[in-house]
Amino acid sequence: MKYIKWLLVIFAVFMSSCSIMQMKTAEEKEIPSLLGLGTKIQITPNEVWRSKQEDFHIKITLGRGGLKAGESIGIVNGSFIDRWKLSYGSHWWGQEKPWQGDDEQKPNYVQASCSRKGVKIDLKVGEEGPNKPFVNTPGHFVRSLRERMRFVLELSSESDLQEGDVINIRWERVQAPDYAMRYFFLPFRFERLPALDRYLPIRRGEFYSLPSIKVKGHSAAYLHVTCQPLQGIDEKFSLNIAAVDKFGNPAEDFSGTVKLSVDGKGNIPKTVKFSGDERGHKRIEGLSMAEAGWYRIKAEGEGVTGISNYLVISKVKPAERLYFGDMHVHILDCDGTNDIREHFFYGPNIAGLDFGAVSPHAEYFGCKQAWERYLKETSKANEPGRFVAFYGYEWAQEGHTNAYFLNEGEAELLYGEKRMRARGGIEDNAPFRIGADNELEFMDKLEELKKTRPLFTIAHIHSAYRDLRDSVHWLDEIYSQHKISRQKREERLRKNLARGLRLGVVAGSDMHRLTMGHLCKNPGDVWYFGDRGGVDRTGGLQATFAEALTRKDLYRGMEERHTYGTTGARIVLLFSCNNSMMGSQVKMAEGVKPKFHIEVGGTADLSEVLICCFDGEKWSEPMKASFKEQATDRYECCWEDAKFKQSGIYYVRVTQADGEQGWSSPIWVN
Ligand SMILES: [Zn+2]
Ligand SMILES: [Zn+2]
Repeated sequence: MKYIKWLLVIFAVFMSSCSIMQMKTAEEKEIPSLLGLGTKIQITPNEVWRSKQEDFHIKITLGRGGLKAGESIGIVNGSFIDRWKLSYGSHWWGQEKPWQGDDEQKPNYVQASCSRKGVKIDLKVGEEGPNKPFVNTPGHFVRSLRERMRFVLELSSESDLQEGDVINIRWERVQAPDYAMRYFFLPFRFERLPALDRYLPIRRGEFYSLPSIKVKGHSAAYLHVTCQPLQGIDEKFSLNIAAVDKFGNPAEDFSGTVKLSVDGKGNIPKTVKFSGDERGHKRIEGLSMAEAGWYRIKAEGEGVTGISNYLVISKVKPAERLYFGDMHVHILDCDGTNDIREHFFYGPNIAGLDFGAVSPHAEYFGCKQAWERYLKETSKANEPGRFVAFYGYEWAQEGHTNAYFLNEGEAELLYGEKRMRARGGIEDNAPFRIGADNELEFMDKLEELKKTRPLFTIAHIHSAYRDLRDSVHWLDEIYSQHKISRQKREERLRKNLARGLRLGVVAGSDMHRLTMGHLCKNPGDVWYFGDRGGVDRTGGLQATFAEALTRKDLYRGMEERHTYGTTGARIVLLFSCNNSMMGSQVKMAEGVKPKFHIEVGGTADLSEVLICCFDGEKWSEPMKASFKEQATDRYECCWEDAKFKQSGIYYVRVTQADGEQGWSSPIWVN
């Protein structure tokens, strides 16, 4: 009996260690189009912690035909298409080091051997070429691989290798990057490289057919606490808590008890437990407050703290709620980083966003399959009431402008045709997309489509603004990660408002290297962009007022220009004129002056709140509040424009002491 008991214990221990081992074993991948039938590749470990040094083992088991003498296999590791190279360094922007040092003791050392006795594997690394050696031709990436640019790791042998032979590559003392994401590897046989980029798995959305290494964030630095700001007394709301490391990555190992507190009466749990299995985030439902007022909820864990954005509790249930989102991010499919799934994980769960869109450059969708995967993944991410995802992309030709759709079946891909007309290359006119060579054509086509479906555009800083029409074009992105002065950005908005366009104001991230709503401050310091300077600030946020968290309601909110933008902080900004909120057009009776009401709840102390006004001739700042005497994150005021004549366009700018800013949509008065 005793022995049986012991045997059972041993068996149980054996089984549990097996399941752990199974979890850690990387999957073997077969990519017949690139490696040939039966050839398999595996990278171990396939999950590592950020900043930790690791030894990796890449195992290639040869399939049918083996590998003939003189033939070779290449491997690159990916961020965006112009940067795939064999090195994690593709995310240490501008600081890449090639693989394969001569010194075995040095980091990044690579060696290769073969399971067949006496066979030597030759290993070399291609020279790093320029970022975009062949511009945007439909075969530019494939060509750069073929020409051994970008540190392509190349493996070959002087002997014929046979089916079943294993090539073992040891990549040793590699420091995992600080940026936690999934790093995909692209292995290929040089002779199997296709003619056009769009036949590569990474152009077809087949990222998960490739081996990858997932880097995980750890060691929480603070708690990012968010909630939807506008609620009524006793109304239930939820609170999102994310434990974040110093780079803005989710601290996936976070565990322990987090204490919650608020200065006011309500139903807020005193503690929340993190077991360590939540990937660093948790959403707590069913909270409520018993009295009207402005509140912030504090969260305190072991060695980490956080405080929520302002929560505004009103006596009457608010007709419109306030939601935060990011409508402008780029992905691995084009010239951004991260697979779309990573964005839709990070946006809602870590950044605490309510809505968002992944908006790749349209011309990078080189095949129908990639576009369809994009649409499917966006549909999957859409969960009304929890997180709303829009379909969209960036059209680029004469300036850059983003177009958005509400329904999967109605999204049409318009791309800047001229950009993809290959210089001396093959034409690439896939029938699933529509070319538009200039802004006028782009707008005309969208206006035509709008007759049968809802759609709209958001102009970002590179928009030409020549032929944008406010029937389709509703919103101006006043801020994104591009390093452009506030004056310049605001001047552009003012010029277009003065022209008579009815533009709402938003902000977005335009992230090319981080995920949607990423919390990393100054990513340029961590992931230096080397040859592409001026892109190193964190992203902006779009605030939208809407009745409910659905596509339709947010769409209506954006159409009404009930929006504002911030540099990333969840500033609560309420701005109205005679009870009509930002974005409204207000009619005044003869001789009556407009009265404005502003309320602000910052995420830090405020340094300035002002109203900007266009009186039909010039812009001025007739109302300005500064906070030198008393530090506060709250502001409220009523202001009447005594100088009002016939018409005016008014918007608010908020500046915090920590540099964060926010801009309201205008109110048009006449
Ligand atoms: Zn752009
Ligand atoms: Zn963009």
